[in-house]
Amino acid sequence: MLAGVDLGGTQVRVALARTDGRITGIAKTPTAAVGGPQGMAEWVAAQVDHLRGRAKVRRVAIGSPGPLDAVHGKLVNPANLPGWEGAPLAALVARATGAPTLLQHDAKLAALAEYHRGAGRGSRHLVYITWSTGIGGGVVIDGQLFSGAHGSAGEVGHTIIDPDGPLDACGQRGCLEVFAGGNNLARQTGEPAAQLFEAAESGDAEALAIVRRAATYMGVGLINVTNLFDPDVIVVGGGISRSWKLVGPQLEAALRGSPFIGAARRPALRRARLGDKVGLVGAVEWARANL
Ligand SMILES: [Zn+2]
Repeated sequence: MLAGVDLGGTQVRVALARTDGRITGIAKTPTAAVGGPQGMAEWVAAQVDHLRGRAKVRRVAIGSPGPLDAVHGKLVNPANLPGWEGAPLAALVARATGAPTLLQHDAKLAALAEYHRGAGRGSRHLVYITWSTGIGGGVVIDGQLFSGAHGSAGEVGHTIIDPDGPLDACGQRGCLEVFAGGNNLARQTGEPAAQLFEAAESGDAEALAIVRRAATYMGVGLINVTNLFDPDVIVVGGGISRSWKLVGPQLEAALRGSPFIGAARRPALRRARLGDKVGLVGAVEWARANL
């Protein structure tokens, strides 16, 4: 058996799965209820123990928001897990469960999940973009998650669109995330991004203009990743992808509008399919990939 853990700012979830990836049981709890990294490791171990029956768990993989150090299995300073800075999560969970444990960025695991079980099934090379409060991504090349030299490949949100643009929280100027990330859109309007998208969907002209502008920048992002990776498929997930009717056609038009990319090598653009299961599925697939 394998176990996948999806650690988020709101919930921690664990899935037990067979080595073919089929999930056989799920447990969840509010992140606040586990108290911290050590408490989380103990909670995960208790759930795994409960769900596994007599089977042996051979690998555990944890997906978490970044920034994190996947090589050493440590969190760095994730914004939505205050107090968890520097936590050696992989080691804590390995000790509690007795199984070798891996830590990976949640957006990268989402790429793997959509590749194996979601909108990217049947593709060979896939780029996944999570379009939400921030913008993250993951790259799958020939069926393998591409991590890069330091584990940070796929940071689509911090590709620079305009070197003279506004300062991003990351310290660079004019990142894609500054122009299209939900938190930055919310800062422009003084309302949460969800409200902005609701207003745009109901035809509010000002909201529509802001959303269209953000989608224009995301379209540039799609052209950039296409030119970099030449994927078969780009999958867009995250909260903003729920407004697909609003943004999907514009993203498609952006890709079609690039004379350089052209029809022959234009990737299929798809909306993510796994919804809130994506984190667990991705963690299970990462455990499988590292068996
Ligand atoms: Zn940035």
